[in-house]
Amino acid sequence: MVLIFYYYSDNMTNFKLKVKNSAIDNKGLFADEDIPANSEIIEYTGEIIDNAESDRREELDKGVTYIAYIDDNTYIDGAIGGNDSKYLNHSCNPNCIFKVKNGRLYYYSKRLIKKGEELTADYAFPADTKKEICRCGSKNCRGFMNELI
Ligand SMILES: [Zn+2]
Repeated sequence: MVLIFYYYSDNMTNFKLKVKNSAIDNKGLFADEDIPANSEIIEYTGEIIDNAESDRREELDKGVTYIAYIDDNTYIDGAIGGNDSKYLNHSCNPNCIFKVKNGRLYYYSKRLIKKGEELTADYAFPADTKKEICRCGSKNCRGFMNELI
């Protein structure tokens, strides 16, 4: 069952960003100007779905999904009506963090991000869910996008 339908289709970005080919994954999201530390960069937008619908879509789609966790019964599927924030890749040494405010999800810069840098965040998938291989290339790479137990 789908909980609620609402979509944010705007790019809702506070900084100039670019989607380009990435060494981490197929595509990535890059800063197209300097972004100061602790800045709200972009909202993660898409279709709001519940836990059961999220599970169903993960099952259905064995490849790439863009489903972000908000709380135990609220997820955002960036594949449907989502903006470029869905291309932001995981890194074990990220320059961005997620923040949830009033049920909405935003990316913030952890530090100054220079023009041309790829934006990354730690997806921190739960340790007890399917292991997702990480290719972030950072020195402290965990090997997986999941948290360690
Ligand atoms: Zn990694």
